[in-house]
Amino acid sequence: MSYRIKIEPSGHTFLAEAGESVLAAALRHGLAIPYSCRGGTCTTCMGKVVEGDIHYPGGDLPEALDEKEDAVGQALFCLAEPTSNLVIEVREVRDTADIAPRKLPCRVVDMTQLNHDVMRLLLKLPDQDRLQFLAGQYVDILLRDGRRRSYSLANAPHDDALLELHVRNVDNGVFSGQVFGGMQEKALLRLEGPFGNFFLREDSDRPVLFVAGGTGFAPIKGILEHAFAANLSRPLHLYWGARTRQDLYLPDLPGRWQVEHPNFSYTPCLSEPAPGDHWDGRIGLVHNMLLADYPNLADYDVYMAGPPGMIEAARRDFQDHGLDPERLFSDSFEHALDGEPPA
Ligand SMILES: Cc1cc2nc3c(=O)[nH]c(=O)nc-3n(C[C@H](O)[C@H](O)[C@H](O)COP(=O)(O)OP(=O)(O)OC[C@H]3O[C@@H](n4cnc5c(N)ncnc54)[C@H](O)[C@@H]3O)c2cc1C
Repeated sequence: MSYRIKIEPSGHTFLAEAGESVLAAALRHGLAIPYSCRGGTCTTCMGKVVEGDIHYPGGDLPEALDEKEDAVGQALFCLAEPTSNLVIEVREVRDTADIAPRKLPCRVVDMTQLNHDVMRLLLKLPDQDRLQFLAGQYVDILLRDGRRRSYSLANAPHDDALLELHVRNVDNGVFSGQVFGGMQEKALLRLEGPFGNFFLREDSDRPVLFVAGGTGFAPIKGILEHAFAANLSRPLHLYWGARTRQDLYLPDLPGRWQVEHPNFSYTPCLSEPAPGDHWDGRIGLVHNMLLADYPNLADYDVYMAGPPGMIEAARRDFQDHGLDPERLFSDSFEHALDGEPPA
């Protein structure tokens, strides 16, 4: 059994299954309403039920909602489940300015080495706490000595039980050195976020070209998983560039997306395939491969993430090929400029 929910004032509608919270259903459809705890304790997700009926699991009102608020239709959408079609009034999160960054402790619950130099970390926040973010944003890991390192969120907001990071091992790297040099599952970290303006502009219906260099795949993975959940029908084409075949560290995932989503296509590119790679795909710099296929970028939106050198070269060349600078969105993985810990 499913129920139709209409959000006012945006007019967006979505379906929720019986037993599913309004918030979970909205996120599953790529719609962001504000939230923080997802446990009925913080009121960030409070809104109004204008028409229809809801109930809460167990039948009791959530801790942070009193009877007076309930009587006038106020509801906590992180727990409220529809028992009829609904019209609700709640603000939608459209922009990064709608989300205040927070500092939170987190636990590393899974470490999986994806290839020779990339580790996937799955982070769990304290019980009942969730980080609201837009797909493609990043968090800072706060190191004990006061330094911080930025990592893109590789998961999408509808799938936020754990936060996913892809950490590349850098020679003598302070944080990546910890990750590859003895960090264990259950380690405690602190993070701050979300940050950044690298998120999908959904007020555009232009086809999208994505360019990922190395772990620049992480935020683009989050954006694509969000676009798939939101059922966006715009054409989406990903170019993922790396040096050798093993550097494409989740080799099967984009191929699976291509089978599952007819509007998605994928072109992997290697700049220096190793002799043992048996590579019969595209060879060269990833942004040049894109330009060979799309010599006129006037009608496209381009999103790119990865090493600063790639971003700078691509920015110049894409604009020479007609890309409107306003339609270019990028996340440059700059190194932190803090050689020494603060005194
Ligand atoms: C918005 C943003 C998002 C980011 N997202 C990711 C991500 O998803 N995954 C990821 O792996 N990284 C990401 N980075 C880069 C990340 O923040 C760190 O810079 C990187 O992981 C190195 O940190 P470290 O502490 O291991 O090394 P550091 O201690 O910072 O560096 C050690 C030495 O290596 C040099 N160095 C650092 N990085 C590189 C590099 N890439 N190539 C060559 N030399 C280098 C430094 O200048 C220094 O001399 C992102 C950066 C930004 C700004």
